[in-house]
Amino acid sequence: MTEYGFNTMLLHGVPQEDPYGATHTPIYQSSAFQHKSAEDLENIFTNKAMGFSYTRINNPTVEAFEKRITKLEHGVASVACASGMAALFNALANILQTGDEVVAAAGLYGGTVELFEDLERFGITTRYVTENEPEAYEKLITDRTRVIFAETIGNPKLDVTDIQAVADMAHSHGLPLVIDNTVATPYLVKPLELGADVVVNSSSKYINGNSDAISGILTWGGKFQWDPERYPGLIPYKKFGPMAYVAKLRNGLFRNTGACLSPQNAFLNNLGLETLGLRMQRQCDNAWKLAEFLRDMGAGLTVNYPGLPESPYYELAKKQLNGGFGAIITVRTGSREKAFEIINSLKLPYILSNIGDTKTLVLHPASTIAVHLSKEDQLQSGVYEDQIRISVGIEDIEDLKKDFETAIRAVNA
Ligand SMILES: *Cc1c(COP(=O)(O)O)cnc(C)c1O
Repeated sequence: MTEYGFNTMLLHGVPQEDPYGATHTPIYQSSAFQHKSAEDLENIFTNKAMGFSYTRINNPTVEAFEKRITKLEHGVASVACASGMAALFNALANILQTGDEVVAAAGLYGGTVELFEDLERFGITTRYVTENEPEAYEKLITDRTRVIFAETIGNPKLDVTDIQAVADMAHSHGLPLVIDNTVATPYLVKPLELGADVVVNSSSKYINGNSDAISGILTWGGKFQWDPERYPGLIPYKKFGPMAYVAKLRNGLFRNTGACLSPQNAFLNNLGLETLGLRMQRQCDNAWKLAEFLRDMGAGLTVNYPGLPESPYYELAKKQLNGGFGAIITVRTGSREKAFEIINSLKLPYILSNIGDTKTLVLHPASTIAVHLSKEDQLQSGVYEDQIRISVGIEDIEDLKKDFETAIRAVNA
C-alpha cells in the first residue's frame, strides 16, 4: 500500500467497510452478538474463527478504533481499554508476576506511580531512575527485572526518554520496553519504530481531543521474544507465535478484569482521531510560541519546555520528535501564592486536571495530580510548589499571549 502522510493515514489508513456505506463505523451498542449455530459460537470462543461474541471481549466499533491506532503506532495489534490506567495495568500485569521487578523512569504520571504502589501488594516492586539516561536504567536491573517502563515525554516533568537507546539497553538484557506515549502521541513519534515493545496511550487526551470520553489503548510491536523461564505466563500462548502477548491478554487478564472500552467511547475516539494531526500541529506550535513568550516577558518566570534550547532535553527532543515538541509547558512562578493567583486571574484556560483538550488548561500540580506523592517523590516527578502546568490548546496564539500577559502582570504589580 502507498505510504501516506500522517493526516491522510488518519483518514484513509484503514479502509471503511461498513455494509451500508456509513462513513464512520457506527456505534454497535450491543452487549453480545448472535450466531447461526452453536458450532459458530464455539469456534469463536476457541479462537478457531474470528468474530464477535461479547463486548467485554471485543466489539466492532472498538475494533475499528484498535485497527486505526495499530496502524498509526506501526504495531501489529492493539487492545483498547476503559482508561489509560486500565491500559497501563493490562500492558504490565500481562507479563509480571509476584517477585518481579520493574525499572521505571522518574517523573512519571502520578496515577502510574500509584499503580506501581498498588502492585507492591502483589509482590511486584518498582525501582525508579533519578536521571533519564540509559545507563541509569541499566544500573537498576537485577535478575528479577522483567520490564523497563518510561514515558516519551514525562508528565509533568517534561523530560524526554531516549527511546532507541533505552530499548537497545533493555534488549541487551533480554527485557522489553513499555512506553507511555500519551504526551507525545504517534504524531510526534512512534516508539515501536525506535525499538519499544509495547506502547500505551491514554486516548482520553490528544487522541480523543475533545475531552468527551475516558479511554486507553495498548499496542503490541510484535517483535519481542519472551523467554519462557522469565515469562512463564506466556508459555500457554506459544502457539499464537508473535501474537502470544495479545492472545494472553484477550483470553485472560483483559477480559477477566473487565477493562473493556464502551462502543460509544470508541466511536468518539474514532471521530476525534481524524483531526489528531491538525490539532497536534497547532497545539505544538502554540506551545512553542507561548513558552518563548513567557520566558522572554521579563516576569521572572522559569519556563520548562523541551522545545526551548535551554531545556536539557532539547537536542534529544529535536532528534526524536517530528513536527514539534509537545503541547505542555510548566512554569515556576516564585511562590505557591503567585501560582494560584495567576491561575485564578487567567480568563481563557479552564482550571482542571486534564491534558490534550482543544482548549487550554491550567492547574497547580503540587496540590492536585501530585498531592498524594511525598515531597521527595514530587521533586523526583519535577513537581514544585510554585509551579503551574499548562496544556496548550488550539486557540489563537495572540489571545493566549494576551491573557497570560495580563494575568501575570496583574499578579506581579
Ligand atoms: C492521563 C494519563 C494517564 C492515565 O490515563 P486515563 O485515561 O486518565 O486513565 C496515563 N499516562 C499519562 C502520561 C497521562 O497523561
